[in-house]
Amino acid sequence: MPVLHQYVEQPGLYVKCHIKGTFVTFQLTSDGAGRLFAAGFKSDDKFPLRLLIDLIHRGEAYTFGSGVTPAEFSVGQLEFDFPDDREAERLFPVCNMDGAYDDLHLIVHEQASKTITELLCPRCRKTVGVPSSLSIPVIILTIDSLKRLESQKKISADQDAIKSLYAWFKADAAEYWEKIAKAKRRPDQGGLDFNEPGKLL
Ligand SMILES: [Zn+2]
Repeated sequence: MPVLHQYVEQPGLYVKCHIKGTFVTFQLTSDGAGRLFAAGFKSDDKFPLRLLIDLIHRGEAYTFGSGVTPAEFSVGQLEFDFPDDREAERLFPVCNMDGAYDDLHLIVHEQASKTITELLCPRCRKTVGVPSSLSIPVIILTIDSLKRLESQKKISADQDAIKSLYAWFKADAAEYWEKIAKAKRRPDQGGLDFNEPGKLL
């Protein structure tokens, strides 16, 4: 589960998270931090992975090459603390070649006269090394733009990369934010206490 942290020597918040076997630090924009505050989270609080995925979708959480700091994590953070986290992890957009999170593009390119559709990070885009017929930052894609690309035959919906993007975009988190915020407001009335995982299950 992601954990919200405050920088020690500068203003701002960041998130640490263990996803798909990797430790990742995400920077938050002020909008992203505001959204978490509004939902009732403060520094050192855990929050559901589903919300982090939504912040990424909104461009309000980003890795920006901030690197990975496994030594800073306690063993407890390796657990899935919230029932929806394992499901949410499946939605997480990663580079299809090396699992990176940074600056993903939807790439369509030809390889041995086969059309390859994948999500690639900047490093893997370089190694592909062939001109791509399509290269779009994932951050600007929406369900509508995917449908448009499909109707223009620039992408094909049966590709795994496209399926994963649709699944991510369809996981509309608006209701989920509201549900979480409500639960946070009433922890003593059967709501969820995110810092005590046992209570969630
Ligand atoms: Zn990559």
